Amino acid sequence: MDYAVQVKDLRKVYRVGEEKVVALDNISLTIEPGEICCILGTSGSGKTTLLNLLAGLEKPTRGEIYLLGKPVHKMDERQLAHFRQRYLGFIFQAYHLLPALTALENVSLPLAFRGVDRRTRQREARRILTDVGLSKHLLHRPTQMSGGQQQRVGIARAFVGNPPLVFADEPTGNLDSVTTREIMNLITGLAAKHRQTLLIVTHDQDVAAYASKIVHILDGRIERIESN
Ligand code: ADP
Ligand code: MG
Repeated sequence: MDYAVQVKDLRKVYRVGEEKVVALDNISLTIEPGEICCILGTSGSGKTTLLNLLAGLEKPTRGEIYLLGKPVHKMDERQLAHFRQRYLGFIFQAYHLLPALTALENVSLPLAFRGVDRRTRQREARRILTDVGLSKHLLHRPTQMSGGQQQRVGIARAFVGNPPLVFADEPTGNLDSVTTREIMNLITGLAAKHRQTLLIVTHDQDVAAYASKIVHILDGRIERIESN
């Protein structure tokens, strides 16, 4: 069985004028299918860079990345776009919903990109929005919802169609502590239901407590890996 995520000796260097910033160095880790893994580190430790490399949004300077056994570091833009559409859901700190679209339309969108027909899109989007507690908000637009509700839409969009991998970058970064707990219970509950692999990056210890594996990252390097 392939790992859900396998990273080998990953390095990322940014050049800013004459300066070299080593954002990530010597990163190796594996995540099993169905595992909940958290990358925990302070601001600037390289968390977003790591997630962007894993999602194929940026190219590594060196190293290998396999998602579901497939070599992401070797894919071209077309292959990457296709892979993300099929296999990867993404949750953002700032929700990134389309403001002109309703909750239902925002959540249907990834299925449209996957070529799913309209009726199935509507049914699946409605089902997952009900799962996240928004059955009465299907036609609301982002500005008509609270931050917690907008993140629930973001979660529904990431989980719709049950992609095997779900990545989240500081998913509770804009939320209070009560809403953070609700959102974390929701995300981990959804992932467990279909045995999806969850990778969350955060600076928040309380969020990391939900993970079965915590990767502590400091100045772009893995400090230690903790299994719960
Ligand atoms: P985190 O998400 O943990 O706060 P980041 O991955 O955003 O950290 O950043 C890690 C390091 O890489 C920081 O020193 C940051 O300034 C640098 N960095 C991130 N993105 C870029 C970029 N596009 N160009 C130059 N430096 C960058
Ligand atoms: Mg970040």
